[in-house]
Amino acid sequence: MSGNPTFTIKVQKAETSKIGSVDFENLPFGNVFTDHMLYCDYKNGEWGTPVIEPYAPMLMDPSSRVFHYGQAIFEGMKAYKDEKDDIWLFRPDQNFERFNKSAVRLAMPEVPEEVFIEGLRQLINIDREWVKKGKGNSLYLRPFMIATGHGVIASPSAQYRFMIIMSPAKSYYQGEVKVLIAEHFSRAANGGIGAAKAAGNYSSQFYPTKLANEQGYQQVIWTDDATHTKLEEAGTMNVFFRINDTLCTAPTSERILDGVTRKSLIDIAKRDGITVEERPVLVAELIEGMKNGSLKEIFGAGTAAVISPIEGFSYQDVYYELPKQENPVALELKEKLTSIQNKLAEDTFGWTEKI
Ligand SMILES: *Cc1c(COP(=O)(O)O)cnc(C)c1O
Repeated sequence: MSGNPTFTIKVQKAETSKIGSVDFENLPFGNVFTDHMLYCDYKNGEWGTPVIEPYAPMLMDPSSRVFHYGQAIFEGMKAYKDEKDDIWLFRPDQNFERFNKSAVRLAMPEVPEEVFIEGLRQLINIDREWVKKGKGNSLYLRPFMIATGHGVIASPSAQYRFMIIMSPAKSYYQGEVKVLIAEHFSRAANGGIGAAKAAGNYSSQFYPTKLANEQGYQQVIWTDDATHTKLEEAGTMNVFFRINDTLCTAPTSERILDGVTRKSLIDIAKRDGITVEERPVLVAELIEGMKNGSLKEIFGAGTAAVISPIEGFSYQDVYYELPKQENPVALELKEKLTSIQNKLAEDTFGWTEKI
């Protein structure tokens, strides 16, 4: 993809690299950032020149709208290096489209493809040493946009900053998690911003999740806000249930984030002959499935952890422990998806794009 000449990216490289001080074997997720970042400012109704600069703190006006009214959106994606040292993105078009959908919902300007996609490509290329090869290694990419306009006036900002920062990541097995099914709190509501990747969707989850943590559960499974009877997402991941040999997951809606991992797993499962049902899954079905043994697995799906198996859930103060599986479908699907992402298996879907 060639850049639009109006968006020629200005590059100022770091004089030294901090890569030598990074322990790539022991990387806490999302805590170490590469040498460079990209930013592009929007004002007077248009996007300016994108700039790649050394990663550094930045000055902001204390009255910037993002601090007061939460106009902030983001994306989460990964880059992978193959055995030939080529670097690949996984379905970047999906993240780009979703980013602009989030932007529209938060009354923010859409970001041009030349800035988002070409910006990612150039930034990754400059920091390509930070992408390690081998299964489970990746570079986590965090494009985001904040309202930088001055003044505590409760209306959309006239100025924004789009940025990309990147963090080397290693997949680690964080163990199975115990989850609490939400009976009161909600992550999203009809007409709300649940389908947007908005910062506020995360801050509003912290308190209910903290309460769940205090009771010994690592995550909350969100239910629909109106009736709390339908299972919607697991923390910040989409959620799948295996009932006998059928994989079930909630259909995307205004309350559910349209995950790239979710849709990719559905396609892989269907290709391999697994029946997939995208339909509302009821809490009552889980309880029933525990009683008659038809509920086999529950797992979360999202870019950061790919798949997060769930060991058991609590509902109305009763804890239900899932039966242990010899060959969990969750791990089989994770293996298949990560092999495509890491270019270790043929990408028959055409999902991977070389940088
Ligand atoms: C980002 C996110 C997901 C996962 O989306 P992916 O594209 O698979 O990373 C799921 N649910 C919520 C609420 C999210 O914010």
